[in-house]
Amino acid sequence: MEKIQIPEDVYDMVIIGGGPAGLTAGLYTARAGFKVLLIEGTAAASQITVTDMIENYPGFPEGIGGFELVEKFKKQSVQFGLELIMADVHTLAAGQWSDVKGWEVTTDSGVYGALAVIVATGTQWRKLDVPGEETYLGKGVSYCATCDGPFYRNRDVVVAGGGDTAIQEALFLTNFAKKVTVVHRRDRLRATDILQKRAFANEKIAFQWRSVIEEISGGNFVEKIRVRDVDQKDSVTEIPAEGIFIFIGTTPKTDLLRGICELDENGYVITNSHMQTSAKGIFACGDCIQKLLRQVVTACGDGATAAHAAQLYVEDLKGEAY
Ligand code: NAP
Repeated sequence: MEKIQIPEDVYDMVIIGGGPAGLTAGLYTARAGFKVLLIEGTAAASQITVTDMIENYPGFPEGIGGFELVEKFKKQSVQFGLELIMADVHTLAAGQWSDVKGWEVTTDSGVYGALAVIVATGTQWRKLDVPGEETYLGKGVSYCATCDGPFYRNRDVVVAGGGDTAIQEALFLTNFAKKVTVVHRRDRLRATDILQKRAFANEKIAFQWRSVIEEISGGNFVEKIRVRDVDQKDSVTEIPAEGIFIFIGTTPKTDLLRGICELDENGYVITNSHMQTSAKGIFACGDCIQKLLRQVVTACGDGATAAHAAQLYVEDLKGEAY
């Protein structure tokens, strides 16, 4: 097969997203000798970096902090030649160099050409969408216990949600708060059994079951949370609290891909088992794709697969396939 000449400034791969999936894709592609750029967003760090303790990533029997783990990932990929920049990606559009088709990634720090793009943009916290949530952001409303927990020493706080994040973070908050009231819309938790057992055994955690949060109110800072009973609609209670931590799931950060490749009804990217999207040369991995289990370990697995599939794709495009 004939070798194709590509302009020097065009990357083999541009990876969008600096969490476990993106950094693993960066490690694999850079180590395989490709010219790779990883673009990490400036606004929000990977969600895992604000996770206090990860107990189920193999190889760390004592557990490891999310920030520390991501720093290790970065160090490992950069040492194999991965270029890493911080910038916000605005658009992704088709690009072409001679006969070779690729993609142009426009960021606030320049436009980068790539033969293949690996999207690992992750998810963002879902909002409750109730009065007071925006008003009191940073004044009692938080989406990050690791960041804000220490401000609530000996205070009463509320946690919204019943999944792994809500319960893990409620447990973490008991290191500081006097009382943590978990408000959940059902009468049982979605969180994994080990977290449930720890939460039920913790005297600082109380549960308000089958309840939805209607309003967050106060003066300069949050003072109370109004909650309505799901079964008895006219039963409303007010929980005195100086903070509320909202952990009611996540939504994918995939707006960039709208109109470019197939997304499911919730906005998650649809990929095949090779992490290929419906758009040629675009691969996706990690929490932003449609899948069963969102964990660091699965994000890393996806990242490695996306990297390998992108390598094969790029080699084929350049006429270098083995
Ligand atoms: P999640 O599993 O989707 O749970 C979201 C929780 O919020 C559910 O209990 C849900 O209620 C509730 N909820 C959703 N929308 C709501 C609304 N509008 N109002 C009130 N409550 C609402 O999300 P997550 O806990 O953030 O976890 C995300 C993923 O990360 C999961 O796959 C999880 O397993 C993983 N994760 C794992 C760990 C770990 O392994 N240690 C830690 C953190 C996260 P329902 O139960 O009624 O749906």
